[in-house]
Amino acid sequence: MKNIAILGSTGSIGRNTLDVIAQNRDRFRVTALAAGSNIDLFEQQIKIFSPGLIAVADKDAASALRKRLKGVEILSGEEGINRVAAHEEADFVISAIVGSAGLLPTITAIKAGKTVGIANKEALVMAGDIVMKEAKKNKVKILPVDSEHSAVAQCIEGQNSSEIRRIILTASGGPFVDRTKKDLHHIKAKDALKHPNWSMGRKITIDSATLMNKGLEVIEACWLFDLPPEKVDVLIHPQSIIHSLVEFKDRSCLAQMSMPDMRGPISYALSYPERLAEPIPGLELEKIGSLTFRKPDHDLFPCLSYAYEAIKTGGTAPAVLNAANEIAVHAFLADAVGFNDIPVVIKKTVESHTVNTAPDLADVLEADRWAREKAVLYVKELGI
Ligand code: NAD
Ligand code: MG
Repeated sequence: MKNIAILGSTGSIGRNTLDVIAQNRDRFRVTALAAGSNIDLFEQQIKIFSPGLIAVADKDAASALRKRLKGVEILSGEEGINRVAAHEEADFVISAIVGSAGLLPTITAIKAGKTVGIANKEALVMAGDIVMKEAKKNKVKILPVDSEHSAVAQCIEGQNSSEIRRIILTASGGPFVDRTKKDLHHIKAKDALKHPNWSMGRKITIDSATLMNKGLEVIEACWLFDLPPEKVDVLIHPQSIIHSLVEFKDRSCLAQMSMPDMRGPISYALSYPERLAEPIPGLELEKIGSLTFRKPDHDLFPCLSYAYEAIKTGGTAPAVLNAANEIAVHAFLADAVGFNDIPVVIKKTVESHTVNTAPDLADVLEADRWAREKAVLYVKELGI
């Protein structure tokens, strides 16, 4: 029996994880759950899975939940979330909080010696060096949950990592892959929230539409697989059937394919090194017919280039990129800036930053704070 703690259980990844657990009650037990503020769903999850430890980030939401669940201890705030991350009964922590809020709980889980299934890519973007060193020091396994990284992990299992020539992350391209720059001016949040292949949280759905998600994933891949950015390529593959590929030095490529369903990579991480029986529907290639690929358009989607530049610069640059993106996406979701303003806010913020090339955790958090303040100013300048 594996004991699982979930950070962000009410989100898209959290709900999919609980779905996998519900289908495999003989293998997995939920010992601790943490969520942000959606207490209606959280209350149902608590009733179904009876976790031993519960935390809600938002203090008012935590008080409201305490009134509903009399006699149940409910922790709150960052401290509560960190207690869930380090819960003594948990063997495995799913890190699925969205954004920079996931960084410290992820590090807490690693320091507590938990195996971490990482969905929260922003933690690796902000502080990949620190997170991976901490994992090494504490002899902790970090298992990818992101579908592309799960695909790469599955392709390199049992291979000699020094023989990897490059990896190729696939991207659906999002809903606007065939548009022009002019078309993108008029895009509203409700249009960008309609992803063609995946149903995900709001922030990552916008990141998919700008291709920043793929940029963040390039950085995530560099840290998870210890590869320089020159060895991480991106290909647009609108069908989202091949989740990524690895090319070896003999020019042989391995690819991982399955239906686009996050319960696949979640299951692989949860049950690693074993595989679960049928967590997702089977692939019927004859119905899909053809798989297509093309290079991403960096002019139409400059965020991807900005991410490559940030990881090449290193130090605090990726944390600043991430923070500016979070602010810009938040503003776009509130209809406060246009779709094409997202890369502008990021570029301006990154360009006004003086990079610290060897940051510790405090420096990363300070860069994140600084970048948010700057990005808010640029949002105001551009505001509609
Ligand atoms: P989501 O918005 O659906 O869910 C986010 C979860 O985090 C919710 O449970 C929310 O309550 C919680 N949360 C938010 N702020 C919090 C805070 N300050 N403290 C504690 N909890 C907080 O997001 P999602 O789509 O599930 O994505 C989660 C992470 O997984 C992101 O980093 C995303 O990039 C990554 N990811 C998601 C998918 C996907 O299919 N959804 C795929 C790959 C990677
Ligand atoms: Mg992904």
